[in-house]
Amino acid sequence: MANKYRTHTCGELRGADAGKRVRLSGWVESLRRHGGVAFASLRDRYGVTQLRLDTSKPLWNVFANLTRESVVCVSGLVQARPSDARNPNMKTGEIEVAVEEVEVLSAVSSSLPFEIKEAKSVEPAVRFKYRYLEMREGSLIETLVFRHRLFSKIREFLSSEGFVEVETPCLTRSTPEGARDYLVPSRVHAGKFYALPQSPQLFKQLLMVGGLDKYFQIARCFRDEDLRADRQPEFTQLDVEMAFVEEEDVYDLVEHLICFVVEQTVGERLKRPFKRISYEDALLRYGSDAPDIRFGMEISDLSDIAAKSKSEILLSVLEKKGVVRGLCVNAALSRKELSLAEEVVKSCGAKGILHFHIEADGVRSPFAKFFDSVALDALKNRFDAKAGDTILVVADEERPAQTALGYLRKHLAQRLNIPRNPRLSFLWVVDWKLVELDEEGVLTNLHHPFTSPHPDDLERLESEPLSVRARAYDIVLNGSELGGGSIRIHNPDIQMRILKLLGLDEKTARDRFGFLLDALKSGAPPHGGIALGLDRFTAFLLGFDSITDVIAFPKTRQATCPLTDSPNEVTEEQLRDLHISIVKEKNSLS
Ligand code: ASP
Repeated sequence: MANKYRTHTCGELRGADAGKRVRLSGWVESLRRHGGVAFASLRDRYGVTQLRLDTSKPLWNVFANLTRESVVCVSGLVQARPSDARNPNMKTGEIEVAVEEVEVLSAVSSSLPFEIKEAKSVEPAVRFKYRYLEMREGSLIETLVFRHRLFSKIREFLSSEGFVEVETPCLTRSTPEGARDYLVPSRVHAGKFYALPQSPQLFKQLLMVGGLDKYFQIARCFRDEDLRADRQPEFTQLDVEMAFVEEEDVYDLVEHLICFVVEQTVGERLKRPFKRISYEDALLRYGSDAPDIRFGMEISDLSDIAAKSKSEILLSVLEKKGVVRGLCVNAALSRKELSLAEEVVKSCGAKGILHFHIEADGVRSPFAKFFDSVALDALKNRFDAKAGDTILVVADEERPAQTALGYLRKHLAQRLNIPRNPRLSFLWVVDWKLVELDEEGVLTNLHHPFTSPHPDDLERLESEPLSVRARAYDIVLNGSELGGGSIRIHNPDIQMRILKLLGLDEKTARDRFGFLLDALKSGAPPHGGIALGLDRFTAFLLGFDSITDVIAFPKTRQATCPLTDSPNEVTEEQLRDLHISIVKEKNSLS
């Protein structure tokens, strides 16, 4: 739409526009002088247009004194470029604009911290500080446009299914999702704090109690936890809840939603129904509750074979109720690869690896001498191993052994470039346990405390809690947890039993969750839902490794925002208002 600044964008003009008088606005990307003429590249979000400048005219002086990245508005005549000057790689490569007038809208006075074209190779802390400069390189804007399209398609699909988007509060009280809360001190109520939501969990359940049976929200969640490549202190999730549903209804909705948005955004057709695996099987066969099933290399239990060996290490692990498990790689691993593999295993808390090279005439391994030929054959047969393969074995307590083999499997697939197809592989992990013992031996929930136990296991809730199944599910994409959810508890007595099981006494349970318990007492429908991590989903669809690539203004791994320099100190007056005094710690980071 034409206005004071532009009749066209910098990506719009074509050969057929030759002869038109136009006005363009944008950033001056480059300036090249060739004798009596000069060329400037003018860039905006839509593309680049070549400007032709007559160096004998006064307006040339304006350009000659301009620093790159200044913002100008030019008027001029669109001309077809001479045939040898056409650039087929540029959308506007058939034309140039002979500039007749120029207005400098914003002149750059000092040099910029990096070249716009090299933005992608600048280290993250600097890129994040000057995110607006990185954006001018173009690819981040494309990503943000993609993200917007994805979110629009999600809204389109859910709206067409009768779902209603509802905003829930950000200043609230703790919603336990397993992380620390971000707290906001209250000025009005001395010594009291709001918590930023780790998720809208309790509010969406209250919406169900209120009768709104199909809810969703593209919601911001806040979790204070150790940061990794795929974590940010604040992130965006698609939060969904439905009343009068069971697990199959949630699977059905989510699968149709994902198929729709994937096809609409990246044009890929996914096969439904998505595969499913039980939590137990995932841990046993892949060493992970979010397995990548796009390649084999499955983990096998080898305890029976180890029991027949003469290896004291293996026998003593088994005696202490540990496990002996392994996997088989279709490659003869070099010394270097073996030592890297050993490092991976040790970083997971396991003690080490036993390796067996399969050769045409037998098995080569420092450990082969502890096995008779029947046991060695059994080992080969367990994996259907062939000459040239390597079997790697971990013997340890169950948890470190499981984790180590899971990581080892992923590590090897990456190191050995094992093909992982299809590009997008979704998997449901089902049949979760309700609770487990954490490292300190305390009972903790695997999802959150509002997840319904399996009704058939209710009588064992207090006597054998570790054997109780949960009505929970996770959805995994390419070996990463994309989301999770559950059928919820809608009976207040069962909710209280669970809170007690998790160590809350009746008073604390009421203090913290009285509003939920009261709501459940007021007539609550059976309900359930799910939440999907949208930063991760966007990153996967675009093939990025880090979610910071798909977030407009991300934080660093130290949870800082270099752009606004936050978190930052506040004034004494602000602290006084909030009834807070700061205790300086000796080793504090700032
Ligand atoms: N509130 C859960 C989460 O944020 C998702 C759910 O159970 O629906 O992970």
